[in-house]
Amino acid sequence: MPSYVITDKCDGCKALDKTACQHICPNDLMVLDKEKMKAYNQAPDMCWECMCCVKICPVQAMEVRGYADFVPLGASVTPMRSTDSIMWTVKFRNGSLKRFKFPIRTTPEGQAVPDGGYKSGDDLNSQELFTEPESCGMDTLPPVK
Ligand code: SF4
Ligand code: SF4
Repeated sequence: MPSYVITDKCDGCKALDKTACQHICPNDLMVLDKEKMKAYNQAPDMCWECMCCVKICPVQAMEVRGYADFVPLGASVTPMRSTDSIMWTVKFRNGSLKRFKFPIRTTPEGQAVPDGGYKSGDDLNSQELFTEPESCGMDTLPPVK
């Protein structure tokens, strides 16, 4: 399902020349309405659903509606980006929550990219690589750093 902007949250990236969602969209779909200072997806049917805009938006104003077969009605998947990681919060229909934290790194050009996940020699029980607590033999998620 294509991305959409939660207009109440969008601040147009505070009037920068090019907004974060415009910068990141690989298909150049995002447009800024400079009068209202709100972004919008100009061609939802062309959206790749890559979630790049969702991940980069600094105020969590972008969302992608999940397909009903993997994100049933009432459930949600929301990313929250920090300087060194992206935390995904998955809310299930029964209200239970799971969080997945993935490290990101910043290139010399200042671009944030995924940290590549597992690399040869990594400790698979490392907190940096966990996906679900059960996969690390834990009952609950460790506190976020
Ligand atoms: Fe709005 Fe977020 Fe796009 Fe910035 S990145 S223009 S805040 S939707
Ligand atoms: Fe562009 Fe990807 Fe966002 Fe769709 S989900 S608007 S293709 S960045």
